[in-house]
Amino acid sequence: MVIFVLNEASAGEKRCAATPETVKRLLALAPAPEVVVESGLGAASGYPDADYQSAGATVVQTRGEGLGRANVVLRVNAPAVDEIASYPSGALSISLLDPFNNRAALEAFSSAGVNAISLEMIPRTTLAQKMDVLSSQANLAGYSSVVVASGLLGKILPMMMTPAGTISPAKVFVIGVGVAGLQAIATAKRLGARVDAFDTRPVVEEQVKSLGAKFLKIDLGDTGQTDQGYAKELTPEQIELQQKGMAKACAGADIVITTAKLFGRPAPKIVTQEMVAGMRPGAVIVDLAADTGGNVEGTIPGEVAETDDGVRIIGTRCMEGTVARDASGMLASNLFALIEHFFDKESGNFDYREEDEILKGCLIVRDGAIVHEKFKNA
Ligand code: NAD
Repeated sequence: MVIFVLNEASAGEKRCAATPETVKRLLALAPAPEVVVESGLGAASGYPDADYQSAGATVVQTRGEGLGRANVVLRVNAPAVDEIASYPSGALSISLLDPFNNRAALEAFSSAGVNAISLEMIPRTTLAQKMDVLSSQANLAGYSSVVVASGLLGKILPMMMTPAGTISPAKVFVIGVGVAGLQAIATAKRLGARVDAFDTRPVVEEQVKSLGAKFLKIDLGDTGQTDQGYAKELTPEQIELQQKGMAKACAGADIVITTAKLFGRPAPKIVTQEMVAGMRPGAVIVDLAADTGGNVEGTIPGEVAETDDGVRIIGTRCMEGTVARDASGMLASNLFALIEHFFDKESGNFDYREEDEILKGCLIVRDGAIVHEKFKNA
């Protein structure tokens, strides 16, 4: 089996889908695959070509050289639709795919006879935890959101009592307490901030408290969660209640971090312009949902916006990209775990075990057809 790993630097992606460490782990499988990497693969995350070579990978200068003989293609993001035709028929592509919003890519895979796995669709189960890219990346995004915001704040996070006076702790308000939100809370607490948090799933209250933060209670009526643990979409009336309930916490915060997402759908707008205007000059908002529409009115995806009142809104699309070395390390490890799980020790190929719950969850295209239940009839 030939595993080819693409360099996505030209698309602005700093992360990479294999590190020298995971190359070694792939090559330790038996019978060993060949690992081919595109030159520059890890340049933006601190892994030079020479390290891949020392780990045993073949480094190729052009994408064509690698794609031409690949059985498995690893990358972080979905390929451009017009690139899919250059993948060899019968190969397997493994990457994030954004399948709910990228029908064109699913169809292109299908017409090219290329099989495709979507990393977003890996079930959030205990068995699949080590392959869970959404969690590994959200965890780092949550950490980075606090570090990046505190760098812009012009104020320290902990309380300090000194002969020159006492500095009160910064107030951080975290909206959405999934993986990213929990890590944002933990990081802000470690830095000494006073933290409040809110989520529409009441089950997270205990987790918030266990991190030493305060859970803001807002009665929204029935909210609940899906069987996969995802938040359900709120009604417009519930959103309005939520906005009213959060206005005071936002106004009092130095940093607001929003992480509220709805799986496969646009993020809910939960921080209004009025709420932003109610914040003090110099306050910072990080909108971690910027890439799916944003939670905050005024977020500009990919930019740091500043309101007339001096509140900055950080709309970085891929916050984990700010710590690309660790983000690549975790992502590559998730991908290794996936390949190892489906590696056939007899043939050395990827074994499409159709009864496997993980594969049923994430295999979207197979043998020229869109096979996943959620997408086949769209
Ligand atoms: P996510 O990124 O989809 O959403 C982030 C958070 O935003 C969620 O907690 C969600 O409830 C919240 N949210 C949505 N709308 C909101 C609103 N209007 N206001 C406030 N908050 C709102 O979530 P995630 O981090 O991907 O986690 C999704 C689920 O998967 C969680 O239940 C998590 O515990 C679960 N999970 C399970 C495993 C596992 O078992 N292996 C691993 C990771 C995550």
